[in-house]
Amino acid sequence: MPDHTEISPSGLSRVLACAGSVAAQAAVPPEERPGDSPQSTQGTRRHTLAAYRFDNPDKPNPTEVDGHQITGEDVFALNEVWPYVRDHPAYVGHRAGKPGFLAVSEKKLEIGKCIGLDPGIITGTIDLGFVSPGVVEVADWKFGYFPVDPDSWQLKAYALGFMRSLVDESTGLFLPEYAQVRNLKLTILQPTDSVKVKTVEFDIFRASKEWMQAIKDGVKRALQPGAPRHAGSHCKFCAAAETFRCDTYLRSIGDGLQGSNTSVPVTSGGQPVIMAKPDVREISHVDLIDDVVNTKLTRNPEDLSLDEIGRLLDQEGLVVGFFKNLRQHAQKLREGGQRIPGWKLVHGKGSREWIPDEKEIVTEFKKWQLKKAEYYPDILISPAQAEKLPKIVNSKTYSKRLAEMVRKKEGKPTLVPEEDPRPEIRDVTQMFEDETEPEGPTLAPNEGVILMPWEM
Ligand code: SF4
Repeated sequence: MPDHTEISPSGLSRVLACAGSVAAQAAVPPEERPGDSPQSTQGTRRHTLAAYRFDNPDKPNPTEVDGHQITGEDVFALNEVWPYVRDHPAYVGHRAGKPGFLAVSEKKLEIGKCIGLDPGIITGTIDLGFVSPGVVEVADWKFGYFPVDPDSWQLKAYALGFMRSLVDESTGLFLPEYAQVRNLKLTILQPTDSVKVKTVEFDIFRASKEWMQAIKDGVKRALQPGAPRHAGSHCKFCAAAETFRCDTYLRSIGDGLQGSNTSVPVTSGGQPVIMAKPDVREISHVDLIDDVVNTKLTRNPEDLSLDEIGRLLDQEGLVVGFFKNLRQHAQKLREGGQRIPGWKLVHGKGSREWIPDEKEIVTEFKKWQLKKAEYYPDILISPAQAEKLPKIVNSKTYSKRLAEMVRKKEGKPTLVPEEDPRPEIRDVTQMFEDETEPEGPTLAPNEGVILMPWEM
């Protein structure tokens, strides 16, 4: 373990699920760690644009921020959720200089120290922090396509750090202007998800006490020499899995595909324990996986028992993550000049992009007498955003009419593990009676070069 171990809030879920992952990640040489992808570069650009807009609400569409060229697609993506920030009572109140209102963006926080760990062990930067009378809120932008849950250790750690910045160090109490704070909201702003704003709310005092204890215990356990490893869906966020350097992970792929759970940890005094398999290194993981794929995964799902379906779904995150990592690793090797038997590099589908800059395109469209709404479509705000508009907040008539205009839509039935806190749908059969085929998600086009089998 290096002398100055740092755990990022985004890695906390993995660290709490697998204590050994801190040392395992630290052992991966920097040159082997995954670099930036087009998606992560795009995410950085959009984060930068969001931070710029926060500080410059009168100039919301810059063409360049901090050396990043901002595209029309970036602006469009941000516009989908921006009204949540623009009309947030804390942002509006803070800009008007009202006491008790605060809105911050890109605020650096020392988190470890405020929960009793050494300074520097957990630090982070929150995308957005809001305080309005009674409520503290931490919000995080996400621009990936995988739906992100706001009830996460990353946001909980951010919330602890942000709350600490609102406290009088000498008394340990909230500063007088924030003394009414009782509730805490964690929010994910994700323009690329069908649910673009997701919020969970907690009682501030009870939740923060529980979270501080859980993070402190988990991090201390992870910093012990020989901390145990525990494979699970969290492995997809671990550099040791991405670089195939973790035997626990590789062993659980084989076990998962076989339907065996012998490498899944059992609990002993609250600590996860990995049940070792003898001679595991002597088994070729590749042959094992190959064999299992040929003998088990070729079975028709309809022939599987309910027990087998449950056990295989338990392994989905691990197995899917393994093949995603394998494909990335293979592509890297091929790009480095090595041949992968049966596979080759081809150009992906690609996407069209504008040649002139945005100003020139707009000038051209104006000449063609296109209406502004045709090339800069506006998007109707959501009920939650409408509820926060000062004109509606301050009018009983408008608020009443708004309530009549809104109805709660049931989310689509989703299969989740039993531990999920949401209550189970009881009338499952009735749920599907009138269901029409939903429109499938649109995948972003591949860019650049992709790895394909030779036969293509
Ligand atoms: S790959 Fe999985 S099991 Fe191995 S150290 Fe990382 S999180 Fe833990």
